[in-house]
Amino acid sequence: QQADYDDNNIFAKMLNGDIPYHKVYEDDKTLAFMDIMPQAEGHVLVIPKQKAVDLADLQPDYAAAILMTSKKVMQAQRQVFEREGVIQMQLNGSQAGQTVFHYHVHLIPSSIHELGRH
Ligand code: 5GP
Repeated sequence: QQADYDDNNIFAKMLNGDIPYHKVYEDDKTLAFMDIMPQAEGHVLVIPKQKAVDLADLQPDYAAAILMTSKKVMQAQRQVFEREGVIQMQLNGSQAGQTVFHYHVHLIPSSIHELGRH
């Protein structure tokens, strides 16, 4: 069962301006920032400005906005890091490894071999 949205989760606090972060991109529906514990250089997280625990909650307009922001971020990563490989990853539920319960997409300049996944 999915938990209720916690207004005190760390990404909610970022959206409220209560804790600092390194901003990459922002628009009316999304925010992108650097991951504090990057799995590879240039690891970015994209979140909606909507109270969504995970994918199950995401509204269609925010889902579309998340993808368009992810495209922008990925294109910037390809330019900055001069590599084609960018992994888009998104975990739903603690069983899947989700640790912050505000929906977020990982964009990681990497290859599947470097991340140790097969
Ligand atoms: P999850 O495992 O939930 O998909 O990923 C949560 C991600 O959030 C992790 O990659 C973790 O490093 C990142 N993270 C956790 N706390 C903070 C924080 O305070 N600031 C930033 N920028 N990233 C965070």
